[in-house]
Amino acid sequence: MSQIETIARDNHASQVVSITLGMGQLSGVEERLLKHAYPVASAGTIAEGAQLIIRSTPACVRCTTCGKESTVTPNHLVCGHCNDWHTELISGDELLLIQVELDTQDDFEPATGVMH
Ligand SMILES: [Zn+2]
Repeated sequence: MSQIETIARDNHASQVVSITLGMGQLSGVEERLLKHAYPVASAGTIAEGAQLIIRSTPACVRCTTCGKESTVTPNHLVCGHCNDWHTELISGDELLLIQVELDTQDDFEPATGVMH
């Protein structure tokens, strides 16, 4: 959340419109729980009320036998080139900030008309 606030401040944004997160298939994070926790985490910050968009990102492994990289399904971490099981995870267990959409208009007024 502080990362988003830094981005918003650096861009002189008046409000964060939406946040796009990349959620690795092996991250163990449930999209449902994340969306549930978001309003609490963003309350009182510039990101309050922003739309949360979650994209599932595929897991990716590097084969230690042939050295090639391939995308895999979470329960089948096998090399897509030589079918070897000796692979190491490159990505798929992380939560990434993909995009932050900002409103930078100086005369922006919230549609709800809430006074701060
Ligand atoms: Zn391989």
